[in-house]
Amino acid sequence: MSRRSEVLREMGLAPVWRLRTRKEAPAEVGDWIPLKSAVANCRACALHEGRTQTVFGVGDENADWMLIGEAPGAEEDRLGDPFVGQAGKLLDNMLAAIGLNRRENVYIANVLKCRPPGNRNPEPEEVAKCSPFLIRQIGLIQPKLIVAMGRFAAQTLLATDASIASLRGRVHQYQGVPLIVTYHPAYLLRNLPDKAKAWEDLVFARKTMRTL
Ligand code: URA
Repeated sequence: MSRRSEVLREMGLAPVWRLRTRKEAPAEVGDWIPLKSAVANCRACALHEGRTQTVFGVGDENADWMLIGEAPGAEEDRLGDPFVGQAGKLLDNMLAAIGLNRRENVYIANVLKCRPPGNRNPEPEEVAKCSPFLIRQIGLIQPKLIVAMGRFAAQTLLATDASIASLRGRVHQYQGVPLIVTYHPAYLLRNLPDKAKAWEDLVFARKTMRTL
């Protein structure tokens, strides 16, 4: 042991750092199967009555990036994958702009796995019943960085009712995982001026990822 580490240890300050392994232990297929089946069979809230199918999530199950939206819309309910409608096209373009695509090193999921009728906002009770699935997904993927898109993802994971505007631009933590907040792509389709802010958020996310 070096003199320096000896001294630090004497002072109760050792170990100074620990080499962090990339994933504690990557999840295996067997870890995913019960979760996928629990989601597919879920009847915990009334949303199951109106769904064509559940929308679990899509992408690389060992991804460094995890993007989280709100809930499936009509196209997602029809096709079974998140962000396949208009908002999804914008999301794909936003990802491409920072050199990412939804098939590589990215996982995309929503807070709710079933479509709320008429695309209304999720009810608190629906979020409470459904968010444990998302939390388990995060635990299995162990992403390096979470991008919470929109109020429902951000407020659910950060347990706050603060606005997106006030949460943007800094790195939060969700259970030790760095988390960055940005606007929801569907909101950006209606509010073009905020697209520039979302672009800033993604550049900030990419910069943050490089430090992780
Ligand atoms: N909006 C979302 O939040 N998620 C989707 O999957 C589609 C639209």
